[in-house]
Amino acid sequence: MNVVLLGAPGSGKGTQATTVTGRLGWAHVASGDLFRHHLKAQTALGRQVEGYMNRGELVPDDVTIAMVRERLAQPDIAAGVLFDGFPRTLAQAHALDTLLASLGQRVDLAVYLDVPDEAIVQRLSGRLVCRECEAPFHAQANPFAACPHGKCAGEHLVRRADDEPETVRRRLATFHRQTAPVVEHYRAVGVLVTIHGEGPVEAIGRAILEAVDDTAQDAAGAVRAGPR
Ligand code: AMP
Repeated sequence: MNVVLLGAPGSGKGTQATTVTGRLGWAHVASGDLFRHHLKAQTALGRQVEGYMNRGELVPDDVTIAMVRERLAQPDIAAGVLFDGFPRTLAQAHALDTLLASLGQRVDLAVYLDVPDEAIVQRLSGRLVCRECEAPFHAQANPFAACPHGKCAGEHLVRRADDEPETVRRRLATFHRQTAPVVEHYRAVGVLVTIHGEGPVEAIGRAILEAVDDTAQDAAGAVRAGPR
């Protein structure tokens, strides 16, 4: 299955994607994480995208699509893929449709985590991420308790440069202008499920897993029923 997790920056995509892929044993394809790895390793791609990321702007579509296409060549995608932070523009959504079609697949489910802007600004002002593994925490709502990989004691937690308030406002504006049409694209295709993204993290995770389960069962039912 291919599932796309949509939502504004700070809507909880990263947190939920980590839990859901851990539970299902799926590949977690997070374009933001991929870019940050390139940035940290100072690859040519990393140097190319640094300015966009620091300004809170989207990296151009051709660069982003090429990077995701390369990621989808890895064998671990066979178990199932959860896309996190991709696609963020209509052009990326169409490119993903084409890419998956070339593999005989499609986007089976798009989950939109709906969180009001005021809650996002509040959340991102307290967000902390691990510099080593990208695990997200929150100073008040989700303070560091234990390393998910059992490797550190929280000494690598930092505030992301693009979580500064001014940059957050720019990223939110970008979301409404460029990513909201992607939500509408999946609604039109008939694969969209909207989940209210405020409330206990575990309850939201359960709602996502239920949506995945329902989609898998619908697909199995359609196979049993055969072509109409
Ligand atoms: P994220 O961690 O998903 O919030 O992404 C951090 C930054 O990486 C974004 O503000 C963009 O600069 C860049 N980025 C991540 N995913 C994409 C994408 N699908 N398209 C364009 N830029 C992206």
